[in-house]
Amino acid sequence: MSSLRDDFPLITANPDVAYLDSAATSQKPRSVLDAVHTYLTTGNANAARGTYPWANRTTARIEQARDRVRRFLGDPDPARSGVHFVSGTTEGLRTIARDWLAPRLRAGDEIIVPFADHAANIEPWQEAAALAGDVRIVPMPYDAAHDYDYRRLAELVTERTRLIAATHVHHVYGNDMNIHRMRTAVGPDIPICLDAAQSAGHVPVDVEALDVDFAVFSGHKTMALPGIGAIWARNRRGPVLVPGGWAGSPNTSGIISLVAALDWLEAAGQERIAAWNKALGVRLTDGLRQMSSYEVLGCQSSLAPGSPVQRREGIVTFRHHAIGSNDLGFILAGDGLMVRADGHCQGDQGEKTSSVRVSVHIYNTPDEIDRLLSVLSALDR
Ligand code: PMP
Repeated sequence: MSSLRDDFPLITANPDVAYLDSAATSQKPRSVLDAVHTYLTTGNANAARGTYPWANRTTARIEQARDRVRRFLGDPDPARSGVHFVSGTTEGLRTIARDWLAPRLRAGDEIIVPFADHAANIEPWQEAAALAGDVRIVPMPYDAAHDYDYRRLAELVTERTRLIAATHVHHVYGNDMNIHRMRTAVGPDIPICLDAAQSAGHVPVDVEALDVDFAVFSGHKTMALPGIGAIWARNRRGPVLVPGGWAGSPNTSGIISLVAALDWLEAAGQERIAAWNKALGVRLTDGLRQMSSYEVLGCQSSLAPGSPVQRREGIVTFRHHAIGSNDLGFILAGDGLMVRADGHCQGDQGEKTSSVRVSVHIYNTPDEIDRLLSVLSALDR
């Protein structure tokens, strides 16, 4: 068992529950809860407004938090980037679309949009195109394994392409979308905006290695409180989104929680977390493959036993051939197995029928996966 599990009060207080919905939101380690409690009970104040110590300390911590986010994302040069706090990935992507992209769009421009990804990474780009008028939305090409098709993407790029919207880890199939191949495919000049909602806190996110221009993630999926998220914006291709980053009173306790969460993740070891989650995902997919009633969605080649290509980052989604996914969700909940059953907010090119998604994190255990497999196996016929 992962000893890090002991850091999660809600998990350890409920040994009969297997929380398997971390792609929806993660549980919070004690250090995050303590950081928020300490802040609110020893120095709560608004930021950038006061002349007294609590306010000044809060302001300083928020400025330091921007650097904390930069380090978390592998940005080696703080002078070249901006970090802007938002409520989460949805607001972050929408802010980039509305405040950065839309004013730069001209008639005849193009945006490449991933229509099999999360709606939060589709609708803001459509809105930006509508705001600007006469802008063409070009669907991102996918291959049969639900990866981006980089050969076809290279062909789609033109001198009018103003942005490519991409996702780091897919929220339904769990596959890493090979973003390290995107820059080479599309050339040096096109801004790439990365939805890191499912990768941040699960696998290392390195904006330098991936050579993206924007990265956005949600605190509540990275062990921080709900209502806080971050936009990282590189200024290589123009000014950063909001240079000073002040937009009204900030979510101070959310930002405090985010710093504590990123500290916890880094101390735990992001490679260790990634390996743990991947191993649990493999255990589940291998188990499901033994049962004829279940169809696992996504790249099948990564499911072959012993395959070196295990690119599911702790998210496994499946259907039972006869039992509806919502019914299956209720059955599993009756056994304390908390999974997600629905259509998962996928765009038009996504799955048309609902499915059950299991998503793990460092506090889950092989025993929990085996418990799940044993309930699923009783329904296999
Ligand atoms: N993108 C992806 C890939 C997601 O999985 C989610 C959340 N399910 C979002 C964006 C939206 O995140 P939030 O609800 O935190 O804004």
